Amino acid sequence: MSYPILRVHRDKIRENGEILIKESAKNGITLWGVTKGISAFPEIAQTFKEAGFKVIADSRMANIRRMKECFPELEYALIRIPMHSELDEVAELCDYCLISETPTIMALAEKCEKLAKTLKAVIMFDMGDLREGFWHTEIPNLGKALGKISPYLKIAGVGANFSCASGVLPTRENLTQLSSYAAELEKYLGYKLEIISGGGTCSFHQMLHGRLPQTVNSLRIGEAVLLGYDTAFNDNFSILNHDTMEIEAELVEVRTKPTLPIGLIGHDAFGNVPVFEDRGNRRRGILAIGKQDVRIEGLVPLDEGVKIITASSDHLLVDLEDAAIDYKLGDILRFRPDYTAMLSASTSPYVTKIFEGK
Ligand SMILES: *Cc1c(COP(=O)(O)O)cnc(C)c1O
Repeated sequence: MSYPILRVHRDKIRENGEILIKESAKNGITLWGVTKGISAFPEIAQTFKEAGFKVIADSRMANIRRMKECFPELEYALIRIPMHSELDEVAELCDYCLISETPTIMALAEKCEKLAKTLKAVIMFDMGDLREGFWHTEIPNLGKALGKISPYLKIAGVGANFSCASGVLPTRENLTQLSSYAAELEKYLGYKLEIISGGGTCSFHQMLHGRLPQTVNSLRIGEAVLLGYDTAFNDNFSILNHDTMEIEAELVEVRTKPTLPIGLIGHDAFGNVPVFEDRGNRRRGILAIGKQDVRIEGLVPLDEGVKIITASSDHLLVDLEDAAIDYKLGDILRFRPDYTAMLSASTSPYVTKIFEGK
């Protein structure tokens, strides 16, 4: 077992999933469990399954393929609008996919027809966050185009994404608007849409505060399950576990040094000119973890009195002067990752992943 380690407590994540599913059901909402934030390891898919998620959602076909090999009994949704170069795989492996381009819908419908495989599409609308989605003025043309596609591609519903590209939050107003787009589209389709997918974790936050319209019946949840947190509202959900995972790294140097560098200051390893404050001599440590392992800005030290100074590709410098413990060479320090740190650490091949608990 070699450091750095991403240690994941599956029992805490499973419990988060169970609570989220239960709370959402009270509001008539079903959840897709989103695995992309932690690279969709099969252990996570299993935890999501045990929590009760019936649909596993991910942004990458490679992740969906791997999970489906382990758990063919679950349904899978591709939640990044698909590349044309992956449509064969989407048609073959997915049960749902989010989609926002008419040519992609047409091409995917053809693939489904060829395989005689049913796929359910959720039509994405841009409600102002300016990432993916049709503009509502396109509904008449879209409606006409959808009337002509193969019945193997079913239109399951509409969806929207929030707080991603521009930080636009889901509200009663913009989600009511989304529901009205569904109604407008139904007129062209001639049948009722099953799904109104109102966003991710930030929409769950709104649900808890009674700010979702009744018409929203589906959400796609990642961050709340994995971290018990909502970045968009900067909210630690009080009903969820936050201690779901830690990053651990080993001290490879511990020494008292000045806080002010000595010599002429040029650019650091990343092209920045660093500025330092003279705080006298202080105890500091070097941890064998760096930017190639994890997004350092997303780490919060869990050990009392430990502060992050700076990091390069392979070294993380920490101030230990105020630490509660007299740390020694070889000791392990622990950090809580935010979403971006979880994403990077789970992706880095240099970080050992340990899944604990049942
Ligand atoms: C990542 C993603 C989600 C999940 O968002 P969380 O904030 O992690 O819950 C939902 N929908 C889409 C389209 C996504 O890309």
